[in-house]
Amino acid sequence: MEDCIFCKIVRKEIPSRGVYEDELVYVFHDINPVAPTHLLVVPKRHIVGVQSLEPEDREVVGHMFYVARKLGEELGYAPNEELAGGYRLVFNVGKDAGQSVFHLHLHFIAGRTMGWPPG
Ligand code: 5GP
Ligand code: ZN
Repeated sequence: MEDCIFCKIVRKEIPSRGVYEDELVYVFHDINPVAPTHLLVVPKRHIVGVQSLEPEDREVVGHMFYVARKLGEELGYAPNEELAGGYRLVFNVGKDAGQSVFHLHLHFIAGRTMGWPPG
């Protein structure tokens, strides 16, 4: 996708602060963090969002969750034995849910206590 901002970030045409990369995904810091740690896990291949997932996308979506789990451990946010600590994983699906970039991304948010339900 020529004009997609996250495709441009994946291609390194727009700078970003990357933290992890493999053949399927790229992870970088959100430009407008809502918590001390706010990362975006993005498939390298353009997918609009959860609303457009196809059967062939299931592998990369599962991989996005696994990468998030590994980042949680490496960054020290994995829930401990008392199930304290932790992080939030969010997909915003469509405008009413707050999706503003229409290239699939999993928010990894951590470093402060978060309320529920969201506003
Ligand atoms: P959404 O609102 O679609 O769920 O999340 C999009 C996220 O992308 C927002 O949290 C926003 O701050 C982030 N974002 C938008 N443009 C850029 C950019 O150019 N660079 C980075 N690093 N993050 C961006
Ligand atoms: Zn894209």
